[in-house]
Amino acid sequence: MERVIGIDLGTTNSCVAIVEGGVPLVLPGPSGQRGFPAVLGIDEQGQRLLGQIARRQAVLHAEHTATALKRLLGMRFGHPQVRQLSEMVAYRIVPGPSDELRVVLRNEPYSVVELVAAMLLDLKRAAEAYLGQPVSRAVLSAPLSYTDAQRIALRDAARLAGLEVLRIIADPIAAALAHGIGTSEKRAQRVAVYDLGGGTFDFALLEMSSGIHEIRASISDPFLGGQDFDRRLLDFLVFGFAKDHKIDLRQDRTALQRLRDAVEKAKCDLSVDEQVTIEVPFIISTGTSEPLHLTRTIDRTKFEELTEDLVDRTIQLAKGALAEAGVEPTSVDAVLLIGGMGRVPRVQKALTELFGRQPMGGVIPEEALAIGAALQGAALSQTPSASTTFELSPHHLGVLIGGGKVFRLISAGTQLPHESAHVFTTGRDQQTALRLVILEGDSDLASECRILGEFVFSGLLAAARDNTEVEVRFFAAQNGELTVTVVDLREQRREQHTFRLSAPLLSGDTDGGKSPIGSYELEAQRTDELSRNQVRTEQLISDILGMLPRAEQAVAGSELGLDAMRRARAAIERARIAIIRGESATLGDAKQLLERTAAMLRGVTASIR
Ligand code: AMP
Repeated sequence: MERVIGIDLGTTNSCVAIVEGGVPLVLPGPSGQRGFPAVLGIDEQGQRLLGQIARRQAVLHAEHTATALKRLLGMRFGHPQVRQLSEMVAYRIVPGPSDELRVVLRNEPYSVVELVAAMLLDLKRAAEAYLGQPVSRAVLSAPLSYTDAQRIALRDAARLAGLEVLRIIADPIAAALAHGIGTSEKRAQRVAVYDLGGGTFDFALLEMSSGIHEIRASISDPFLGGQDFDRRLLDFLVFGFAKDHKIDLRQDRTALQRLRDAVEKAKCDLSVDEQVTIEVPFIISTGTSEPLHLTRTIDRTKFEELTEDLVDRTIQLAKGALAEAGVEPTSVDAVLLIGGMGRVPRVQKALTELFGRQPMGGVIPEEALAIGAALQGAALSQTPSASTTFELSPHHLGVLIGGGKVFRLISAGTQLPHESAHVFTTGRDQQTALRLVILEGDSDLASECRILGEFVFSGLLAAARDNTEVEVRFFAAQNGELTVTVVDLREQRREQHTFRLSAPLLSGDTDGGKSPIGSYELEAQRTDELSRNQVRTEQLISDILGMLPRAEQAVAGSELGLDAMRRARAAIERARIAIIRGESATLGDAKQLLERTAAMLRGVTASIR
């Protein structure tokens, strides 16, 4: 029977796995390593370059080489993350006809789906070459934070690559499956999944038992990852070099790229060695003297000192998610690490301190997602009809309650079929009818959810408020049907309605399931103010990032100045957490701190004009 492959489309590297005789196997990449570089370039002849060759081209022609495409997939041009991402990459990103993204390589605009499809096709071919047979079906793993639009784009890309996607599973679930969790346990296991990759951080708390995989809490920061650690090391080297030679290496593109590669390698080596020597010979030529070399020895303690706040930020985010779910870190049964940065000893130590237990070993972090996807694929290939079923509820499902809030009965990511019930009381005296609005979405605010349907349950006996009890029962089936049963507990009268869950993976609807509903002005006002503050904070971050290089140059060599720059970066990080958390008070404080930081930086840069 034809095999189903498991694919983890990575930001930096992708991975493909299959299951052979019940055992997962990761396919070798082109150069014998197991990863496939997730890079695509266009050469001077207009030919597509993939993987390692494309990565090599990036050294000299970064502007013609697309990286981090996974992060752009399914995004619209106006999205704030796109602005930030486009500042981080060397190629141009422009809007397409309907505001979808186009990546410009050698003056040609390409759709992101098309480029990702080319990468997936490369993975499909590698699997076919390895297996010696055609491959046409896959299970893909994707970040939990992916919106419907992103999942649809991923599915479209796979389809273009000639792959039928049996299912897209959330990364933390794939990781748990790879570790053998969630298949046979009688008692539900609490699993914390910590995923620190090249550019993003995700944390999820799962509750897994045989057949039920529930995501209890999750948080992600789309701009926190290995690159930030690399930048700290890079800055340290750049300042040292500037002090010795009065040359800012960041002004030379080739020197900068070589330095980036060198610091990333040093960071990886420091996961094993206590000390490394970074050497970049002939890094720059001044034209007046011999070319200069960069040599610097750095030990793990220094690296940890430079990046302490970054690790701490991930821990604070994880703690926040755990607190939100009301879960004590020490009650977690397993801690899983995915993402290359999980190898950093300081990260492992911080997690061990938080959870009182060591992260689980046994699976190579970079391979876990592809393995989980392959295991899921193997299971599905034994259930032919599974491709049309909903394994997990794609969104939270609930009913509208007072204050424009959603009372959640089934959480996103719950294994289906699933049943859940809650008893509500009437909110007004003499209330004889109840209007039930069934909502689906990723927010607890009704105004941000989609209405699946509504109905009025009437004929209640008039009584004082709180005296009438009505049970609302949700049953979400794998065929995507949600059956809502309302029972008047006093009269034992019942009514049943069926709704259809949105099929985020199948339809062409890409609005992320948001259909604002009226009459919740208060909530809307609060949300508006919050989002205005978020936008302002993002602007401040962007302004400060714009000023920092010049300010850092101005203070190069001064410990006091460098300390101020470190504090400026810490202020940015604090603000980013506040943006993600979406709490007005924290955001207000963070915004004020940024305003003070911006003023300080304006002063520093003005003084060197
Ligand atoms: P991912 O996005 O999961 O592929 O993770 C990529 C990130 O992990 C990059 O920042 C890599 O530099 C980093 N990484 C990979 N291997 C190691 C290692 N052995 N030690 C430290 N960081 C690593």
